[in-house]
Amino acid sequence: MKSTTSALPVDVAVIGAGPAGATAAAALAGAGLKVALLHRDGPRAGAAEETLVPAARRVLERSGALECVEQLGFHGRARHASVWSEPVLRVRDERDDERGFQVERRTFDAALRARATRAGAQLVEVGQVTIDERGREVRVRTAEDRELVVAACAVIVATGRATPDSLARLATVVELPATLALSTTLSLQHELAHTNVIEAVREGWWWWLPLADGRVELTLFCDREEERSVGREALWSAALRGAVGPAREVQARPERGTLATARLRASSAPILVCGDASCALDPLSSQGLETALASAQHAAHCARSVVEGRSELAFAALERRAWDARLWHAHRRQTTEFLRSEGRFADAPFWRARQALGLTPSSD
Ligand SMILES: Cc1cc2nc3c(=O)[nH]c(=O)nc-3n(C[C@H](O)[C@H](O)[C@H](O)COP(=O)(O)OP(=O)(O)OC[C@H]3O[C@@H](n4cnc5c(N)ncnc54)[C@H](O)[C@@H]3O)c2cc1C
Repeated sequence: MKSTTSALPVDVAVIGAGPAGATAAAALAGAGLKVALLHRDGPRAGAAEETLVPAARRVLERSGALECVEQLGFHGRARHASVWSEPVLRVRDERDDERGFQVERRTFDAALRARATRAGAQLVEVGQVTIDERGREVRVRTAEDRELVVAACAVIVATGRATPDSLARLATVVELPATLALSTTLSLQHELAHTNVIEAVREGWWWWLPLADGRVELTLFCDREEERSVGREALWSAALRGAVGPAREVQARPERGTLATARLRASSAPILVCGDASCALDPLSSQGLETALASAQHAAHCARSVVEGRSELAFAALERRAWDARLWHAHRRQTTEFLRSEGRFADAPFWRARQALGLTPSSD
């Protein structure tokens, strides 16, 4: 069958319709700009449900996502527990204003996308995409094997943590030690079936996350190098045995593994990169989504200033990168401080690598 090429001229092309892309597209379309939101469904790097800290309310409000979160009833758990710095499970009940949010990602992402299309963004289902080096044209291969050339004043890339460097000429600026998230989903009766628990163990830290459907997602965040040398099952079993919290009673094996390394990347082209594609935080912070929404708003602000002739694209891309770099360094300090507050396992590979951060100039 012969393939055909068509053209779609817009003000801004947004690639990736996760939280960052949908938020940027909604902001731009809401301001009256012509926006193409290029969407491709696929496996995600994160968790089925993700938590946001109470302070994220401001970002949710500013980005317009609070409405979706509240309508969908995504409130955080009323009870949290931790085992950190001493082998004791400490449970605390949160006041309503301390509960934060826990969002089911498929529903949340779909609600943000619907919001973007209601604001006027044109959603296009795509297969493969490439961006020209001027950052003004996206070549799209659609599912029907058509070629579409989206010509724009600015391109926003919001394709998440797994974005290949080649898509937006990305290079890693700085990253924390390679971290792997090993997960399994449990169906069980448990007294902590409604409590979020984090627990530090020698091999890393456990995240016990009760889901809305009554199951529990159990994730071990561990050191990638240690997992390679010890073996996945052996590392997981040792971490279960070392737990004093609910993970101790679990017998399941890890069902899936995904990279969760915190990393800052920058593009050498005049492309506005936002969300996890440029600044992927350590999941320990529970600030990935919040940051993705805030950086998307900033990307939209940069794109708008280009479309309205108030800024050059190259300058706007520099401004975008500088914003991410500031946020990254603040996040890195905060995460390192928290990791250092766990003093029991200083000789274990996971903790040694992370607690040394910032102690030598080269680790920054
Ligand atoms: C294990 C784990 C647990 C986490 N837990 C939390 C948590 O509890 N709280 C929290 O705040 N954050 C958490 N995060 C981080 C959170 O998942 C991310 O910060 C967030 O998803 C970033 O949003 P994004 O829109 O940048 O990227 P994504 O959510 O990854 O969205 C990217 C979108 O782009 C699409 N896409 C990819 N390639 C293309 C392409 N070529 N063309 C078109 N579309 C494309 C994808 O299908 C997807 O829809 C966690 C991360 C991990 C790894």
